[in-house]
Amino acid sequence: MIRFGPAGIPLSCKGRTLRDGIEDVHGLGLNAMEVQMVRVNVIDRFPDEEEVGLTPLEVESDLIMEIVRVKNKKEVRLTRPTEKIKEDDGLITLASGLAQNFIELRELGEMGKEMDVQLSMHTPYYMDLASNSELTDRCMDNIRWAGIMTDQMHGCLVDTHLGLAPEKIKKQAKKNITENITEIMGWWEDNKIRPKLGFETSGRNEVFGSLEEVLEMCDKIKGTVPVINFAHVHARENGALRDPSDFGELLDKVREYVDGHFYTHFSGVEHEGGNEKRITPIKKGDLKFEPLADFLAEENPNITIISSSPLLEHDAMYMKVIYERVLTKRVAKEGKVKKSDKGRDEDDEEEIGYEGLGMDDGEEPEEPKAKPRPEKPAPVKNEKPAHKSEKKPAPKPPEKPKAPVKPPVKPSTPVKKKR
Ligand SMILES: [Zn+2]
Repeated sequence: MIRFGPAGIPLSCKGRTLRDGIEDVHGLGLNAMEVQMVRVNVIDRFPDEEEVGLTPLEVESDLIMEIVRVKNKKEVRLTRPTEKIKEDDGLITLASGLAQNFIELRELGEMGKEMDVQLSMHTPYYMDLASNSELTDRCMDNIRWAGIMTDQMHGCLVDTHLGLAPEKIKKQAKKNITENITEIMGWWEDNKIRPKLGFETSGRNEVFGSLEEVLEMCDKIKGTVPVINFAHVHARENGALRDPSDFGELLDKVREYVDGHFYTHFSGVEHEGGNEKRITPIKKGDLKFEPLADFLAEENPNITIISSSPLLEHDAMYMKVIYERVLTKRVAKEGKVKKSDKGRDEDDEEEIGYEGLGMDDGEEPEEPKAKPRPEKPAPVKNEKPAHKSEKKPAPKPPEKPKAPVKPPVKPSTPVKKKR
């Protein structure tokens, strides 16, 4: 199964809740959404009278991530949401804007299942597991909490960065990161957290997470998987991802680590000297999606491709359209080959424009932000994009593409020739 979806609530989504986001993703014909843990406000408080005896799973007023309890004069932190709250406990609650409480998280999980939108979560962008400072403690908390929340949402994976590790402190940084992740994964196992923990390949040399570093960590620590960010790999390898085989070789390198499911990010990227300068819409920059689409049509792997482009869902749909077109062409070509040996490829260079997705090229943000900011809608024109209509019946779940058997479903979005 090949899944496409945005890194966050779609920009064009009217509502800003996860519920709105999942519905919107489904309505756009996409089938994955990576929830962004952006704002993390931690509030310590004491339980109300009526909360004593309840578990965090049952409390409606807040999302209670931890119970702080004094046992034998020592403070312990209880992270299992099934633990009963006692009168003298302290409660650590998380105001993240993602969900009010556990009840809502579980409802979101049900929604995702019903609408076939695969959920996952990205930890806050700034991660520091290397310095062993106070910040490292907070980062480790965030990863654990993302694990609990994603588990409750029946999500498949928590995607995280690892931290800065410039060359001169690389050795120590690697040691610290490894120890911290090992500790987190011990907790992961004790708490029976089901989603995998994924390490995203980094786009800059000073950030820990070259493909080799990520794989080395995954080798050492059970339950962890690599997350391929194609734009980052492309940048660090000086624009190495060009042909379908380049993508194939990259995925081959991580195949034995991912337990049958590749989880990846795609976007455009500007790069220089082996470093990412900025993440861009897919149509800008020299990382093209077409060769990956070719590879996907050929191999039909089980893969999730999250658009982390500043155009979020627009580029997720753009990728889906390209992929479906490649698939259609393959099938058509095979038909032609059977009829006659004369293959005609005159329209091979046809280009898909954003206008085919209900937006003009002119709508691309002037200065693409380095990171998608899901809480702020992008500057879009007043009129509704053509692909969005509120009362539109939900599209049929896309048929499982099985190249090269039968003609694939027509792309759900009209593909226009670029004028
Ligand atoms: Zn990331």
